[in-house]
Amino acid sequence: MFRTILSITICSLIISAGCAAVEKTPPVTENTTAPPESNARGTRYLETETGRWLVHDTERPAPPVITPGTASIQDQPGKAPSDAIVLFDGTDLSNWESDRGEPSKWIVRDGYMESVRRAGGIKTKQSFGSCQLHVEFATPSRVTGTSQGRGNSGVFIMNTYEVQVLDSYDNPTYPDGQCAALYGRNVPLVNACRAPGQWQTFDIIFHRPIFEGNKVVKKATFTVFHNGVLVHDHVELSGGTGWIDEHTISNYAPHEDKLPLSLQDHNNPVRYRNIWIRELKD
Ligand code: MG
Repeated sequence: MFRTILSITICSLIISAGCAAVEKTPPVTENTTAPPESNARGTRYLETETGRWLVHDTERPAPPVITPGTASIQDQPGKAPSDAIVLFDGTDLSNWESDRGEPSKWIVRDGYMESVRRAGGIKTKQSFGSCQLHVEFATPSRVTGTSQGRGNSGVFIMNTYEVQVLDSYDNPTYPDGQCAALYGRNVPLVNACRAPGQWQTFDIIFHRPIFEGNKVVKKATFTVFHNGVLVHDHVELSGGTGWIDEHTISNYAPHEDKLPLSLQDHNNPVRYRNIWIRELKD
């Protein structure tokens, strides 16, 4: 009997001690603790965009849950992530118009769109600023022309900054104009081109320039993967990419915070498929 009472008493003490320990645990969102530099063990708090949080704080806002996309293969484009804006899924040009704001004459067939000689460029109806962009392209399998005359097109972010599309598979040209170059400015780290006619990918992370009056106060930055290979590693664009003459390039010129994405008609029939975009904070 005595043993039973003793056991119950000990158990009660353990349970109440446990409860007491739980009650004494400070709320994880309590931000009144001394700053990190006063803690000899190391950093305990982080200053973040969403506030000041204890390291490993379960109350810190979790990111949205999305469904990731799938990778493309030559015969079949992949799927966009669930939070992307799909600009072209291979069926129609409903999200696009000509660079003059009219219905585009570019051809849509077999899941791709193709530039038409002298039809002009094509641009999205929606405007974008800083973004993550996925584009797939194929230069003509029947190779004609040399240098800038072979499979030339271009991805113009904000209708202004060109990531060059060119058949640079065994096709020498000036390096700041080869495929994946930030035209006239930055040479890609490597030439990662696939053979003519093969589907290729650009994955671009772009942060727009910011202007105050006529002055650029924050230059644009590019990170670009060509066929999954890093070719621009957070490059700061020194100025515009617009061609003026053989050895002259444009400077920054103030523009809107958001502008259409456009694709270039350079008189070569270049194909595009599976284009999607995710808007980013500046
Ligand atoms: Mg071009």
